[in-house]
Amino acid sequence: MRYSQMFLPTLKEMPSDAEVVSHQLMLRAGMIRKLTSGVYSYLPLGYRVIRKVEQIIREEMNRAGAQEIFMPTVQPAELWKESGRWGLYGKELLRFRDRRDSECCLGPTHEEVVTDIVRYEVKSYRQMPLNLYQIQTKFRDEIRPRFGLMRCREFTMKDAYSFDVDAERADESYRKMFEAYNRIFTRCGLKFRPVEADTGSIGGSYSHEFLVIAESGEDAMAYCEACGYAANMEKAEVARPEAPATQGPLLPLQEVYTPEVRTIEEVCAFLDVVPERVVKTLIFSADEVPVAVLVRGDEEVNEIKVRNLLGCDVLEMAMDDMIQEVAGSPRGFVGPIGIKCRVLADYSLIGLNDMVVGANKENYHLKNVNLERDFQVAEFADLRVIRESDPCPRCRREMRFARGIEVGHVFKLGTKYSKAMKAVYLDSQGQEQHMVMGCYGIGVGRTVAACIEQSHDDHGIIWPLALAPYHVIITPVNVKDKALAAAAEELYAELAAEGVEVLLDDRDERAGVKFKDADLIGIPMRVTIGPKNLAVGKVELKMRNTGETKLLTGNEAKAAIVAAVRSL
Ligand code: ATP
Ligand code: MG
Repeated sequence: MRYSQMFLPTLKEMPSDAEVVSHQLMLRAGMIRKLTSGVYSYLPLGYRVIRKVEQIIREEMNRAGAQEIFMPTVQPAELWKESGRWGLYGKELLRFRDRRDSECCLGPTHEEVVTDIVRYEVKSYRQMPLNLYQIQTKFRDEIRPRFGLMRCREFTMKDAYSFDVDAERADESYRKMFEAYNRIFTRCGLKFRPVEADTGSIGGSYSHEFLVIAESGEDAMAYCEACGYAANMEKAEVARPEAPATQGPLLPLQEVYTPEVRTIEEVCAFLDVVPERVVKTLIFSADEVPVAVLVRGDEEVNEIKVRNLLGCDVLEMAMDDMIQEVAGSPRGFVGPIGIKCRVLADYSLIGLNDMVVGANKENYHLKNVNLERDFQVAEFADLRVIRESDPCPRCRREMRFARGIEVGHVFKLGTKYSKAMKAVYLDSQGQEQHMVMGCYGIGVGRTVAACIEQSHDDHGIIWPLALAPYHVIITPVNVKDKALAAAAEELYAELAAEGVEVLLDDRDERAGVKFKDADLIGIPMRVTIGPKNLAVGKVELKMRNTGETKLLTGNEAKAAIVAAVRSL
């Protein structure tokens, strides 16, 4: 491609509405342009990178035995009603009516559609395992689209769906996808980590997220280098503490007047105690049934763990009237003694004695409260958010924490959709069985954004060769110099003939301008053709990632470039 003819609108200035580096650089490098909130067009340079990622995904999905299909964006509401998600999916699902007044939505994901295809076409155990995937446009009406392609409303996703005869074969399909994902993100040149993730309310199943390590990531992970345990923060388990030492005599229960003292900080300041001695009592509404969750004052309740333990669909903080009903007091003075609902306690309460709790009486707290003696709990469980000081839940050695960007998600679905939508087959005994499913997503644009987050410098993007829009840029420093232009043209033709993707910067611009643009758009190799070097038969080959330069003959440069590209 000749730069002079390329539609490559680079920007010198930092775009004011872009907060993260990848978004800034994608705009500056002329890769994308915004149409409306969370909706982007891919320009030629950006689309080349998108297609590179898609191609790597495609090759690895095919290698793993998945077959490519393409499903529609517009989906009928009936399917979503059948699966039960029409009522559960929130406003992210963009719903509308067509001219026949039929309810439709734009697909945020395709479990319903693919299950609909498979239930009509797959009748026998002999037709499985089956794994169907597509690389297709999704629409999710995200509440806060931001960071460019990282979190948009319309985006390209690779989504795959596996169908198996039983849980064991489904595990095998899952494992294959897990391996394919490792290969995909490795080939994309990313530093990433698969972590255990929450599966939501689908009991008994499991899932992993693939997180690209990046400070700007919206996700946080906890991992143990000793035993390999790694989990998303919201999923990361906290070990049950070792049995506490036997306690001495307990102090007598005492009611204290604490006017307008509601928060943990206020309680600690007023009673001069540390947060570790205070117990937070939180009232939740679990499918509209009140539940109290106790956690130490310095800890934070993990609502996902609470929801999973209770197995409820909707978990919310209770409203004032529910709190009044179970505690007989307003928010801020709630405690476990005499409360009229089920009481769950986090492991952090084990071994605590002489605690401070709300008195279930406005403007009062209780001191020297003790488990067993003063109140009972229905169950102890891991209900809090992991902290940096917590040991690994598996091997009890030190945990590490990092931030990351979720680029992929593999998910064992079990029979959730096959049961709801009656996707059944006949087994070898002629018995009807439900298919066991898995689903596997990769955000294509988000992967590109994550790559930039990980690989850039002050001058611009640093593409790994596998994702680069062009492998090499040839930069004659002055196109008016006939000899330089001719040498550049010759190398351009030769490299292109070898299958190298070459950009020839044939613009009549100063060398400095060309170098800046080449750095900004991140082309991995640059061949500079200047008069002094050319006079002795040499060109300069510069690597974008290391900054290393070499003086080579035209043939040597060509051989080095071809070798690098062939090694992909
Ligand atoms: P998130 O937690 O970031 O909202 P999700 O869990 O909703 O993502 P999945 O349903 O697992 O996402 O979708 C599969 C993949 O699609 C994600 O791993 C991510 O790479 C990509 N993805 C999801 N939502 C978006 C979005 N709004 N913009 C760009 N990519 C997205
Ligand atoms: Mg996810």
